[in-house]
Amino acid sequence: MEFTLKKGYRPYEAYQYLEPGRDYPIIDWADWDWAGRHVLALTDNEEARVAEILANAPYISLHDHPDFTTRDMSSCKPLFDAMRSGRDRCGYEALAYSNLDCIFDNMMDGTNIISSPEGWKWIDIIHDLGMRLCDIAHQNFMTHCKTVDDIFQAKKTGRIACVFVIEGAAPLENEVDRIDILYGLGIRQMGITYSESNALGSGLKEDHDGGLTHFGRQCVERMNQVGMLIDVSHCGPQTAYDTAVYSKKPIIASHVGAKGVWNTKRMADDRLITAIADGGGVIAIEAAPHTTMSKTHMTHDIDSFMEHFEYVKDLVGIDHVGFGVDCMYGDHVGLHHAFASALSTGETSRSQQTYQEVPFVKYLENPTEASWNIPRWLVKHGYSNEEIAKVLGGNAIRVLREVWA
Ligand SMILES: [Zn+2]
Repeated sequence: MEFTLKKGYRPYEAYQYLEPGRDYPIIDWADWDWAGRHVLALTDNEEARVAEILANAPYISLHDHPDFTTRDMSSCKPLFDAMRSGRDRCGYEALAYSNLDCIFDNMMDGTNIISSPEGWKWIDIIHDLGMRLCDIAHQNFMTHCKTVDDIFQAKKTGRIACVFVIEGAAPLENEVDRIDILYGLGIRQMGITYSESNALGSGLKEDHDGGLTHFGRQCVERMNQVGMLIDVSHCGPQTAYDTAVYSKKPIIASHVGAKGVWNTKRMADDRLITAIADGGGVIAIEAAPHTTMSKTHMTHDIDSFMEHFEYVKDLVGIDHVGFGVDCMYGDHVGLHHAFASALSTGETSRSQQTYQEVPFVKYLENPTEASWNIPRWLVKHGYSNEEIAKVLGGNAIRVLREVWA
């Protein structure tokens, strides 16, 4: 496979309108392809099919953090200093090498420690979003996506539509109107909780899940009214299920796997997967290190990831599956170590099975590599063009048309 840049890309480095070292501290960021550029091998015929599918079908990643970690991850300090600097660095050129037409960008979220060691503060969320929008305003390859038309426009012009989203609703505190404010500022999807509980419901690391609260129901209703897509990936099982049932619009799990394949708190149970599909929503499969493992693939890789995809597809049908790989540029395993407590990786990925830690997830290590290999794997494993078009973006577009309108 040749590595080519999208036709709408013009060379641009994040914040290049400022002078590094004078206007903001210089940070040594990782190389986007530090773990290599792995591509699944295909026959010429299969290559032609992948090219044909990608030329026609919009490709959407429903959950990513397309930003860099620091190069040195041997201690927490460089990474924490970078996060506190308040300028998350988007991988424009790396994204230009991808097959994506649209990416859901969760910004700093769990690592947003600009003003507090615990993160998730309202002021920091606004800082993160405003800073990123300022950067985006100084180039014209990534567009700030607010409508379904923006996705088709990006595809047509060789650009990427960037949907800004927030992984958990803790920054709302007890203010339902903040949903309107975030929508007004261009946020188009929000999680009900992160792994910790908040005023809306219980997070997935709790032992006792009290379900969607009264305030949570109010927020679901407001999100339905304003057109904010709801994500339940980090909710406890009861809170997630209540949300799926209570919401009048389809919801998504933007980055999960199936408990039926790998039994950890982080994975979705059959009842939730079925409830999301019954409401017309989508379950998107994630690839963050050591999440979507399986008993037949005890080292995390594209085959264990796809076992989760096929399990969900077999349970609820091809119309309700998608991909939200939840990757970034740089050492993701290192980031998990540095932020183990903030990201609750210990509590949520604990499993009865012992597994071998991988240094990176081959074929899915960053948003770019994942976008090369997911369509290739699907072609290789006998999926039709129509089925692949659905899971790459068609299913997501159906949901967005119902929710964002
Ligand atoms: Zn997450």
